[in-house]
This record gives sequence, C-alpha cells and structure tokens, in this order.
Amino acid sequence: RPIPYFAEGEVVSGFGRGSKELGIPTANFPESVIQDLPSSFDCGVYYGWAKLNSYPEVFKMTMCVGWNPYYQNTVKTMETHIIHQFDSDFYGDVMKIIVLGFIRPMCDFPSLDALIKAIHNDIEVASKSLDTEESLQFKDDPFFNAEQ
Ligand code: ADP
Ligand code: MG
Repeated sequence: RPIPYFAEGEVVSGFGRGSKELGIPTANFPESVIQDLPSSFDCGVYYGWAKLNSYPEVFKMTMCVGWNPYYQNTVKTMETHIIHQFDSDFYGDVMKIIVLGFIRPMCDFPSLDALIKAIHNDIEVASKSLDTEESLQFKDDPFFNAEQ
C-alpha cells in the first residue's frame, strides 16, 4: 500500500447511507480525488490525519476505502470520519488528509450492531496509533499549512 498517502479535495455529499444516523458521519471526496487513488490501495479501514480549511486544528481520522455501489462496484469510494464532534456540517470545505496506516480489510458487516462495534474499535485503534511519535510527525506536515 502506498502509505503515507496525501490527498485533498472538496467535501461533497455521499450516497446518504445514514452514517450520520449511526453517529459516524463520513465525509466524501469528489470522483477526481478517487481516480488518483493507486489501484494498489486496498479496500478497508485506514487511519491518519485530516484538516479542513475552515478549522485551524489537524484532526485524527479513520478512512474507509470501499467499492461504490452507485457504479456497480467498479469505482472506489473514500469516506473519512473525523474523530471530532462538529457543531455543523462542512460540505464544500476543502479537506486534506494524510493516510498513515491500515486497520482492517472490510468496511461493511452483516449486522448493524457488528458494524457499529467495529467502527468504534477502529476509532480507538486509530486514536492510539496516531499518538505515536511516528504518526505525530505528520500532524505538523507542511502539506496541512500550504495555501490551497
Ligand atoms: P453523506 O452521505 O453526505 O456522506 P453522512 O451521513 O456520511 O452523509 O455525513 C457526512 C457529512 O457530515 C460530512 O460531509 C460533513 O459535512 C458532516 N460531518 C459532521 N461531522 C463529521 C465528522 N466528525 N466526520 C465526517 N463528517 C462529518
Ligand atoms: Mg458519508
């Protein structure tokens, strides 16, 4: 897998799978950003850092790379859950991410309950992995400060 992986793009609306209703909203990138993703980027859950242009902080995130059902699973998706409680949506913001590690191979689970448990576990794994010195180096990466 090509890690660390840097990506940026506008936050667009996804397919409304109800992630927000599960308490786990996932921000989507436009197709152009997904087209740049190397094919060696396996489906599954990753962790890394995320920055939005309208917030000064760099946040922890989990990202799921999967197949897009809208395109008969021929096109991938990148869905980023920022580990932070926001007061409002940020559609239209530019989001920058640095993907640093792989957590597990699957985005979906047979039952909603199993899925929610797995996602909460991912958030914990991501949070711990991002507290390591190796990961923290990337939090201050010039990529996040550069002008868009
Ligand atoms: P969509 O189908 O548009 O992806 P979601 O239910 O997954 O809908 O919600 C995603 C949206 O929620 C994001 O585009 C963003 O504007 C907002 N949002 C609020 N908090 C977060 C968060 N912590 N992580 C990701 N997105 C968030
Ligand atoms: Mg979503």
